[in-house]
Amino acid sequence: MKITIMTLFPEMIENAVNCSILGRARQNGLIEIEAINIRDFANNKHLQVDDYPYGGGAGMLMMADPVCRCYDHIVEHSSVAPQHVLYMSPQGKPWKQQMAEALSSEEHIVLLCGHYEGIDQRALDAIVTEEVSIGDYVLTGGELAALVVADSISRLVPGVLGKAESFQDESFSDGLLEYPHYTRPAVYRDEAVPDVLLSGNHQKIAAYRREMSLINTFNKRPDLLKRAKLTEKEKYFINE
Ligand code: SAM
Repeated sequence: MKITIMTLFPEMIENAVNCSILGRARQNGLIEIEAINIRDFANNKHLQVDDYPYGGGAGMLMMADPVCRCYDHIVEHSSVAPQHVLYMSPQGKPWKQQMAEALSSEEHIVLLCGHYEGIDQRALDAIVTEEVSIGDYVLTGGELAALVVADSISRLVPGVLGKAESFQDESFSDGLLEYPHYTRPAVYRDEAVPDVLLSGNHQKIAAYRREMSLINTFNKRPDLLKRAKLTEKEKYFINE
């Protein structure tokens, strides 16, 4: 899978994707993440990429031409044409695990980062297939959002997570939040690990974890329960 990130600040992306699990996955050739500098496609002497908005108002706007020329370059130099161009935007659809799952089987996607007041609408109309938001707040630029999106997709690509880091049981994978975890020592500052986790009884452990998942979701994100797959008995949590 390849993720191309269009940005004015490629160093923000490159530093982040060289570390930890993503860095290892890139080295092993499981994922390709490249940052392309939109400024390289400025068609003027001073490499200007932003200008004042028509109609007035505060701030500068990224011009359409460098963005469109950057995208044309990506398409021309791609062995697989990008299937999705996601514009990182506070106005976009809220980013969800299910969206990451759907995109993790694509061969090539592009993430577009805005800066300043955003991007000339004509560039967005020309190249963007979806707008996505990482939350109801405004960032200075799309780079942190693109990293969130790229990370959540990449870790679902087969082989990126080792067995020890499997995503199968995680929050959202079955519509619920995950159960609490414990590691050694068995007693820490007088707090003991729940007995069942030391019992070796896998059936009991699975039942305990399912119950804790339901309680966690009920306490922290009750909205998720309505869409989760629950048994008749578990529907008690919805009716509470
Ligand atoms: N003027 C824009 C508005 O009010 O909708 C906000 C522009 S913001 C200062 C600059 C850039 O940061 C945006 O173009 C977008 O790429 C990115 N950005 C800001 N908040 C974001 C969010 N919540 N999710 C994804 N991207 C965001």
